[in-house]
Amino acid sequence: MLETRVKAAGGSGAVADLPIAVSLSPSARRVIRVIAAAVVGGQVIGTVAALWLAVAYGISMVSLIIFFIMYVWTTLSVTVGFHRHFSHRSFRTSRWMRGMFVIGGSMAFQGPLVYWVSTHRRHHQFSDAPGDPHSPHLHGGSWREWWRGFWHSHTGWLFAPDITNAPRFVPDILSDPYIFRMQQRYMLWALLGLVLPAVVGLLASGTLYGALEGFLWGGPVRLFVVSNVSWAVGSVSHLWGRRPFETHDHSANNFWVSVLAFGEGLQNNHHAFPAAARHAFEWWEPDFSGWVIGHLERLGLIWDLKQPGPSAIENKRRVGLASFAKRSVGQ
Ligand SMILES: [Zn+2]
Ligand SMILES: [Zn+2]
Repeated sequence: MLETRVKAAGGSGAVADLPIAVSLSPSARRVIRVIAAAVVGGQVIGTVAALWLAVAYGISMVSLIIFFIMYVWTTLSVTVGFHRHFSHRSFRTSRWMRGMFVIGGSMAFQGPLVYWVSTHRRHHQFSDAPGDPHSPHLHGGSWREWWRGFWHSHTGWLFAPDITNAPRFVPDILSDPYIFRMQQRYMLWALLGLVLPAVVGLLASGTLYGALEGFLWGGPVRLFVVSNVSWAVGSVSHLWGRRPFETHDHSANNFWVSVLAFGEGLQNNHHAFPAAARHAFEWWEPDFSGWVIGHLERLGLIWDLKQPGPSAIENKRRVGLASFAKRSVGQ
């Protein structure tokens, strides 16, 4: 049963009899918390500094372009690469593209690929139930508890006292020597995401101030936006939005999170069909990642896309409507 749920979540060959998480020693816990605090705090401090400088001295067009390109590149590497390709195996692609996904996704400072994918597959397996690493729904019903749940699902879970057990959730990545080696160089790729914007800023302006501005907007400001948008997928899109499919969780299709997170806010669609490469099932549902995936397929850069047909989608929708009608009659 457990194995079936992992497969349904798009995982592969998860080892169901291993523990879900490994508790950390007090010193390891301290190290993880310091790293998490440095990443979250650094983004906030850098963003405040960038805004302060923008108010005092204005902001250059080059910095805004650097911000935009880095935002799109990092977000797509996470949504198309870390999420749809590595976590759910929604499509197949070349070794070169897989390597690029690892580099770009690592620039989001959301942890190495093994950590990211094992945490995400765990989220699908225990979605909004005990064991989910970042559900907003497991903290009680009072207002105070609601806020605690929201904070936990948005950022607090980064400071958890345990870590998802990778051998249970990502045996496929652990046994792939090339991808494993690439993701081990996480710090190199992550720091590259800070150095590159500074270098571009320096070359474009020819001044050290230009380098600082490029670093701030392509680094901390971009990370602040990418992080909050990614965290909103787990917090906001599990609280508010449409639920066209009956799933065993609170996942919802949140329009605005979908716009900013390039389709990842369509959580209800995604939890209903986790392996689907495209998350939008209606023309008006925003899914920029799905649009990019379509183009990558046409260019021959990715192949073997998984996508449910219209009848599978309609059938699942009807199951939801039928059980809703039954509940309404029962009330
Ligand atoms: Zn979810
Ligand atoms: Zn997912």
